[in-house]
Amino acid sequence: MPRPIAATIHMGALRHNLQRMREAAKGRTLWAVVKANAYGHGLLRAARAFEEADGLALIDLCDAQKVREQGWTKRILLLEGFFDESDLPLLEKFDIETIVHNRHMIEILKAHAPFKSLKVHIKINSGMNRLGFLATEEEGVRAELEAIEGVRVMGVVTHFANAEPTYEADKPATVSLQLSRMRQIEPRPEHLCMANSAATLWQDDVKGDAVRAGVALYGASPDSHYTSEDLDIRPAMTLSAKILAIQNVPAGEAIGYGSRFVTHRDSRIAVVACGYADGYPRSTPDGTPTYVEGKIAPIAGAISMDMLTIDVTDVPEARLGSEVELWGSHIPVNEVAKRCGTIGYELLCAIALRVPIVED
Ligand code: PLP
Repeated sequence: MPRPIAATIHMGALRHNLQRMREAAKGRTLWAVVKANAYGHGLLRAARAFEEADGLALIDLCDAQKVREQGWTKRILLLEGFFDESDLPLLEKFDIETIVHNRHMIEILKAHAPFKSLKVHIKINSGMNRLGFLATEEEGVRAELEAIEGVRVMGVVTHFANAEPTYEADKPATVSLQLSRMRQIEPRPEHLCMANSAATLWQDDVKGDAVRAGVALYGASPDSHYTSEDLDIRPAMTLSAKILAIQNVPAGEAIGYGSRFVTHRDSRIAVVACGYADGYPRSTPDGTPTYVEGKIAPIAGAISMDMLTIDVTDVPEARLGSEVELWGSHIPVNEVAKRCGTIGYELLCAIALRVPIVED
């Protein structure tokens, strides 16, 4: 008997979100970002749900190979590019497009030419200061790449540091600053891909002919000030676990490790089969909501490795075996994340391997 915990992946929600982002992309090519095991939802499962996307964008070459071998015939883009020359034959063999973001990569390509057909995108660092060439270098980089036999430049990409509407105002790397740097590229690139989910949803000035949508496809709002409903996207993962035990605890008793939570009244404390080794953050504070028997029950006590405790004093219907939603359609993953000082992305990606995945 497996532990009574599951991450349920809602295939209908994934498909709905893809259509929603397709509308938001307004005719642009839609890359579905499926890195990090499709943000914890399962790579091959997500590839099935996103069959109507124009391409898959991911990080690991072995994942790219896996989706190809499982029958994905459309485009595939490696978001961080290749790591060394041993990757090059696989890129060609499986028709995987790669980002080129530094001079070292150009040197590797030169040293291993000619190619039959190697598709590359030039990454521009427009203000994120992570990967990429400066906009003013694009023309020279393109010329160098185009001079390598068999290399085909497919387009130019950049990435925004703050495309969420409530982040932008007070941050140095604004979308408008990054766009102004992209406008320095001469001549204007024919193919340009800049937008992530947030820019696709909110930044009408961000043009280009392609977008790369990740988190919104999984039904989490890129900006925690907006709910999924605000954006008409649906949470695609429900993390739930059952109640293993219920303790009737008098007022003044401490619950769990470190005695973090002390009951201020006679309480019913339910023990739930989910812990930090399942991906529910240990940093989750008391008061963070869970959902059980149609009501909210707050976290009460430090999260253990395999269990957590919630206060069900006000949920008399809660009993052994009741299912508790830790995040999903009633408890937004962003709500839990915010309480822990992080973002929904991190929680979704960190779902542990030992958690059984169920599809519905
Ligand atoms: N493009 C790149 C280069 C990324 O690293 C990411 C994710 O971090 C995305 C697109 C997708 O971003 P989001 O999940 O915010 O849509």
